[in-house]
Amino acid sequence: MSVLIDPADPRGASAVMLATHSDQWTPIGSAWRIPSRSRPGVSYVVTAASCTCPDQRFGHRCAHQLAAELVQELTDEAAAF
Ligand SMILES: [Zn+2]
Repeated sequence: MSVLIDPADPRGASAVMLATHSDQWTPIGSAWRIPSRSRPGVSYVVTAASCTCPDQRFGHRCAHQLAAELVQELTDEAAAF
């Protein structure tokens, strides 16, 4: 599986930014608690299927979900070696 980042979608760039700070994420089972980049002190619980951020409520995949997928993929690839 490969994560597709659409260069025309600003969420792609946001997801890459979020993923570069994945050392600040807290694992909760199969979910992540990811600190918000725009709202200090706020963090979101992100799974493959959902996220608690406001963006997600509009029904599309948010930057947090994309970032979580990116990091998961990198982790899987690292484990494969
Ligand atoms: Zn989100």
